Amino acid sequence: MQNLSNKNMIHVIKDNISYLQFRKLLEYPEIAHAYTVGLDNNLRTVVNSGVTSNYDNGINKYKILCDDLGIDFNGCVRASLNHTPDIKIIPADIDMPFFDNDRIRHDGIITNEKGINLITNSADCITLFLYDKEKGVIGNIHSGWKGTYNKILENALKNMHEYYGCNYRDIMIFICPSIRYCHFEVDYDVFELFDTRFREYSNIIRKKGNKWHIDTVLINKYMSLDLGVKEDNIYDSEICTVCNKDTINSYRAHGKSFGLNAGIIGMRGKVRCLKKN
Ligand SMILES: [Zn+2]
Repeated sequence: MQNLSNKNMIHVIKDNISYLQFRKLLEYPEIAHAYTVGLDNNLRTVVNSGVTSNYDNGINKYKILCDDLGIDFNGCVRASLNHTPDIKIIPADIDMPFFDNDRIRHDGIITNEKGINLITNSADCITLFLYDKEKGVIGNIHSGWKGTYNKILENALKNMHEYYGCNYRDIMIFICPSIRYCHFEVDYDVFELFDTRFREYSNIIRKKGNKWHIDTVLINKYMSLDLGVKEDNIYDSEICTVCNKDTINSYRAHGKSFGLNAGIIGMRGKVRCLKKN
């Protein structure tokens, strides 16, 4: 497997799991995190298709990942992928492990509870990890183009501010691999949406033939800066999923049979009232 390590990322490659970690986030030992890569690391769990082997294989990968990170699989909470701009605060008494897509119909989850490991999935969409070390709050956000257009990151940051009292200047943002400016090509309808809503932002759209390329990563950066997040606190993997389609699951590159990558972040510790199954 190609090693994707760069100035911001470390690529951990093992026999049965492979993932990226942010060098900056590794400076905080109280945080466990990873963004899985590898085409043989499909973190999809199909619940409703009737094919339980996919579910079992997916769950098994999560268990391997948790073991490798030294965290408890029973503390995992996964949000669904509904392309909403909605954020859910995860309380300590939620049923865990939580892999039922239908029960959290949100694309962003945040918590201040230790021992809860927040998971979202993606295969081109932007996964964003959030961490405020002052208030002890983490977030995991799934932002596809619809999520970016509907400002899910802004919603998440506002929730952290309003619910947990986080100061925007203290919040660190970690941008996982996603489809980038180089490959995110859209037709006129989507171009028009972005051109209208984000007119004040520069260098976010480029025309290429009859298509347009949109820099959704840059839009999320602008959105954060507008709220008062410090530029120095934004850490970008700078990795395009389509450019690295031989190593990372990508919907655009792989089509219908695409696999899912998983982003996971948790604060180490014992959850306050973990319900064992
Ligand atoms: Zn690319």
